[in-house]
Amino acid sequence: MNLDLDEEQTAVRQLARDFVGREIAPHVIDWDRAENVDRSIVKKLGAVGFLGLTIDEEYGGSGGDHLAYCLVTEELGRGDSSVRGIVSVSLGLVAKTIAAWGRAEQKRYWLPRLTAGEALGCFGLTEPGTGSDAGSLATRAVRDADGGAYVINGSKMFITNGTWADVVLLFARTGDGPGHRGVSAFLVPTDTPGLTRRTIHGKLGLRGQATAELVLEDVRVPADAMLGPEGKGFSIAMSALAKGRMSVAAGCVGIAQAALDAAVGYAGEREQFGKPIASYQLVQELISDIAVDVDAARLLTWRVADLVDRGEEFATAASKAKLFASEAAVRAANNALQVFGGYGYIDEYPVGKLLRDARVMTLYEGTSQIQKLIIGRALTGVSAF
Ligand code: FAD
Repeated sequence: MNLDLDEEQTAVRQLARDFVGREIAPHVIDWDRAENVDRSIVKKLGAVGFLGLTIDEEYGGSGGDHLAYCLVTEELGRGDSSVRGIVSVSLGLVAKTIAAWGRAEQKRYWLPRLTAGEALGCFGLTEPGTGSDAGSLATRAVRDADGGAYVINGSKMFITNGTWADVVLLFARTGDGPGHRGVSAFLVPTDTPGLTRRTIHGKLGLRGQATAELVLEDVRVPADAMLGPEGKGFSIAMSALAKGRMSVAAGCVGIAQAALDAAVGYAGEREQFGKPIASYQLVQELISDIAVDVDAARLLTWRVADLVDRGEEFATAASKAKLFASEAAVRAANNALQVFGGYGYIDEYPVGKLLRDARVMTLYEGTSQIQKLIIGRALTGVSAF
């Protein structure tokens, strides 16, 4: 087993580090306080190729393997999880799903726009009444009388990139089958009449993110807006989320690494009782706990990338990585805050934001409990759903 990065992977990680240092780090506190990342970051992410990683060059992508994608995602997560989420959703959940399931004309239309950052995607699965039980969603798409269009009614909750997005990968019920049967996927431009959006304010973390509620009232889309076969929407959503979990895990590694960097730096500078606090063993314990979490989370995440790149089954490994890395990011940020003492509690220092941002990672793209049920199902063959 060789865990060394190759030349290309090392170069892309450095590119991401430089990008974060130049375009993100100087603005993080302001964006968090303003509850608004500067939207120009999307074009910049597109220009540097980060919105096209793993997508074929034929469709405007920048190619690369999934480890390179994880390396970039980790660096973005280290810089600002609100920005990392832009990439994880627009590329990871939307563009990659179009690449996997789309017809040639859907790929030709959407992928070059999404990879360039000229268009942004969002993923509309969760509804006010259905989160973990996503298969019970109530949004309905009904074919009109001549069969040339679908008319969609319903609402979507907590949609990352929601207010900024140009297209929503929307999941709606087209059949009367029970539960997840009868769910189909659609690509709905967000300027379609009848689609309204409201930014959700007051979030604990990810404050710079344009998380939104979407309401669809008689939204009419042509029949060819459907992505993949009719009735396959839930499988499409689950396949997107399996890879999405790898991306969330990588972002969490970034949070934990940022927590480690901050804790080590502060512990070396801050003096109490006449010595740097780094010299106290109980502070070293906090730091070493973070370091172990970083390594373990990163290795679990890289394993998923390796499985994906080798075309192996990866969904359970992705759930394990997401479960561990998200819980590890919360622990790491919390431990780092302890190292900072009272200064960790104010937002001039980075660790409070890391903890606030980390907290959602155990909730979205399947809560920690749902990841355990997925892992348990794989081990026992018995489904709890
Ligand atoms: P619920 O499903 O109501 O769960 C509440 C609690 O019950 C949790 O602890 C859960 O683990 C537990 N629980 C539920 N069922 C079980 C069970 N069977 N066994 C054990 N415990 C269970 N969704 C999208 O579609 N697109 C997005 O872009 C998106 N972005 C998001 C961004 C943010 C900031 C947030 C907060 C959420 C986002 N979500 C998005 C939604 C997210 O995926 C859901 O919040 C998540 O799936 C949980 O659903 P819920 O909030 O309805 O909680």
